Amino acid sequence: MKIETKVIHAGIHPDPQTGSVMTPIYQTSTYAQSSPGVHQGYEYARTQNPTRETLENNLAALENGYGSVCFGSGLAAMDAILKTLKSGDEVVSINDVYGGSYRQLKVIFGKFGIESKFVDLSDAQNLKKHIGPKTKLIWVESPTNPMLQIVDIEAICKIAAEAGVKTCVDNTFATPFLQTPIDLGADLVLHSATKYLGGHSDVVHGVVICKTKEDHEAIKFVQNASGAVPGPLDCFLILRGIKTLHLRVQRACENAEKIAAFLQGHPKVEKVYYPGLPENPGHQIAKKQMRGFGGMVSFDLGNDDAELCRKVLEKTKYFLLAESLGGVESLIGHPASMTHGSIPKEERMKTGLTDSLIRLSVGVENIDDLIGDLEQALEVL
Ligand SMILES: *Cc1c(COP(=O)(O)O)cnc(C)c1O
Repeated sequence: MKIETKVIHAGIHPDPQTGSVMTPIYQTSTYAQSSPGVHQGYEYARTQNPTRETLENNLAALENGYGSVCFGSGLAAMDAILKTLKSGDEVVSINDVYGGSYRQLKVIFGKFGIESKFVDLSDAQNLKKHIGPKTKLIWVESPTNPMLQIVDIEAICKIAAEAGVKTCVDNTFATPFLQTPIDLGADLVLHSATKYLGGHSDVVHGVVICKTKEDHEAIKFVQNASGAVPGPLDCFLILRGIKTLHLRVQRACENAEKIAAFLQGHPKVEKVYYPGLPENPGHQIAKKQMRGFGGMVSFDLGNDDAELCRKVLEKTKYFLLAESLGGVESLIGHPASMTHGSIPKEERMKTGLTDSLIRLSVGVENIDDLIGDLEQALEVL
């Protein structure tokens, strides 16, 4: 099955009782048993829910994994992965990482004796010198948030595997339509399904996709034991969103490529970060491991000037000023004070995340309207 068919059919079957084409929302906390311990595979809804199960089967198929496990948010999904580690273990993470992921690694798990190092992985060979005897997990994003750096996933996974270390790829920005990390050697894939998978800015949700049965069982154990499960309505909304993933992401990529080119030629814009630009340092690797360059574009107005940014951010009409990304509507944001506010400035500056950086999540609106909106907003400078 090709991905455009998988998004609609993989793991999804009409309801056997009624023929309902849409997966029903099983809004129940428990299931009737005919005799103690005699049931139809469902006992209690933290442990099993048919709506969630259908979504998990669909997501596992999309990412070419053995199985997937869904959670109430992307960060709850990450929490479950990290809970498979133990005190004394170490995580090596890419330094340009989502702010909430940084905070969870550093503040929450650091407190329980799981140390994290944040390192530059723009050259995959760099990873070699950071893997030590305590390293148990490599954490990468590609493209990264918000600098849209490209990491050579295949090279990273190979170095990690040779050292007996697992790799988790946060695939939120790329989506399985553009990139399937398990095919490149990853052991685990994480999504904030809040973003492109849901796609309509109406639900918070997360998922871990596992390459092996063993990892799937380990994460499922944490899901049941820690309990950060999503509700069935939320699972339904993600299932519905995924059905148009390919159409939405394709249009977002087309729009983003045109916007990146427009910004590149704009006199007030100092620098554009987009892996689709031929001069972007990650362009060749992106071409190799992705099927498109994605809908996220960042650009810098220069001089580390937050005030300049504020003027533009207050002026756009279609690009709504908001956290999050991956919805049908275009969003604009200021990473330094919004999504990445939890990362200290000296850490941020190492990756080029200045106070004058603006991040766009390009939606599926008409491209002329979007460019016109940015054009009029940049006129305030
Ligand atoms: C939003 C996001 C997360 C966190 O997901 P939530 O659903 O908000 O908990 C993790 N990684 C990336 C790349 C994100 O954009």
